[in-house]
Amino acid sequence: MAEKFDVIVVGAGPAGSSAAYTLAKAGLNVIMFERGEYPGSKNVMGGVMYRHQLQEIIPDFLNEAPFERPVVEQRFWMLDQRSAFQVGYKGLEWAEAPYNNFTVLRAKFDQWFANKAVEQGALLINETVVKEVIVEDDRVLGVRTDRPDGDVYADLVILADGVNSLLAKQLGFHKELKPNEVALAAMQVINLPPEKIEDRFNLEPNQGATIEIFGDSTKGMLGTAFIYTNKDSISIGVGTLLSGLMKTKMRPHELLETLKQHPMVRKLIEGGEPKEYLAHLIPEGGYHSIPKLVGHGVMLVGDAAQLVNGIHREGSNLAMASGRLAAETAILAKQVGDFSENMLDTYRTKLMESFVGQDLKKYKDAAHALDRHPQYFKEFIPMINRAASEMFTVDGASKWDKQKKILGMVQDRGTINTIRDLYRVWKVMK
Ligand code: FAD
Repeated sequence: MAEKFDVIVVGAGPAGSSAAYTLAKAGLNVIMFERGEYPGSKNVMGGVMYRHQLQEIIPDFLNEAPFERPVVEQRFWMLDQRSAFQVGYKGLEWAEAPYNNFTVLRAKFDQWFANKAVEQGALLINETVVKEVIVEDDRVLGVRTDRPDGDVYADLVILADGVNSLLAKQLGFHKELKPNEVALAAMQVINLPPEKIEDRFNLEPNQGATIEIFGDSTKGMLGTAFIYTNKDSISIGVGTLLSGLMKTKMRPHELLETLKQHPMVRKLIEGGEPKEYLAHLIPEGGYHSIPKLVGHGVMLVGDAAQLVNGIHREGSNLAMASGRLAAETAILAKQVGDFSENMLDTYRTKLMESFVGQDLKKYKDAAHALDRHPQYFKEFIPMINRAASEMFTVDGASKWDKQKKILGMVQDRGTINTIRDLYRVWKVMK
């Protein structure tokens, strides 16, 4: 008879490790499977990791988590071909404990996090692919792995296997992802000496900055690009909806190479040595794409549950929060010996009441509206750049005349159209 655990966790990303850590800490018998050589070896993220959700799981993580730099500045660029309209915030309160966000390299972070779960007593099995979920009479009983004698049983299986969860598909929880529900991102890590990073981004040592870039970086498609500072490297990437890539026949690595040559970007990475190139999917369907989250003996967390807030580039924190909430429900289920769908539905309720469900609900129509109306990226961003250039060019014309010229740009594209477009965007973001 195969060994039986309280809980099997599939996938050692932020969602899986959060669940495994919380469960093992409460004394449950947990096994976590990871297909990679080690946790993080297959994972891709810019990436910005959020303190608050990690601290809720591991309160004293600060001195040991392998962070790159605490983020003290967040910039946003609306990029045109030779210009960028910029806004942002730099706050030195974020340079001190308890900090706000940190840049991370996932290969280091995921190993550390999974090992924290192991320290609490979870069993981590690397280089093992979970091929299918074992189901009998509509109840999940365990998983089948690619190891010889690879069937493992448990009262509960938590699927934390990421965006394209084949296991959730096998259960019929979600269908094939549609091209307008998922983005394909390409990114590169570029080595650069710390002093150069600090000079170019106006930072002190142990301070980091992020730049989110809209507009020309995705050639009008719905998506964003990013530049994040690590200790001695820069992460740069571009992600766009798959539907846009299919329509334009562009490839993410082409967008990335074009971005690297952009005059606003080139100097930031000049002289850097490309270290690794990565590509990955991001679930972008939001609230409407959340699949069935629980069944008898099974729960979905993180990207497997499509929990990404694309508007705020948050995914890892939703993953960690969902992993923790699923684990807390499992602990209750263990106490009463009931792993039925009805009992596990407590997880779904708590998740939807938390910031995860609330934020996804707030922006439930945003991505779809922006995708259906490409004028926001194709027309508004170039117009904002032209307006800024006009206003800030000192050429003898009065500021009244400049205002008139800018109003003329709005009239050229249609005042009513512009008001309707602005109202639409306010409605889906409010
Ligand atoms: P994952 O991190 O994908 O982990 C899933 C794990 O399951 C992996 O380790 C995988 O190897 C394993 N696995 C999969 N299938 C199996 C199987 N069958 N058997 C065993 N193991 C399996 N989020 C942010 O918060 N901030 C950012 O700056 C940010 N930037 C991003 C940039 C890019 C380019 C991308 C692609 C994503 C970014 N995200 C960001 C999103 C974030 O990475 C995800 O939301 C987050 O990683 C989800 O965590 P997860 O644990 O659910 O899934």
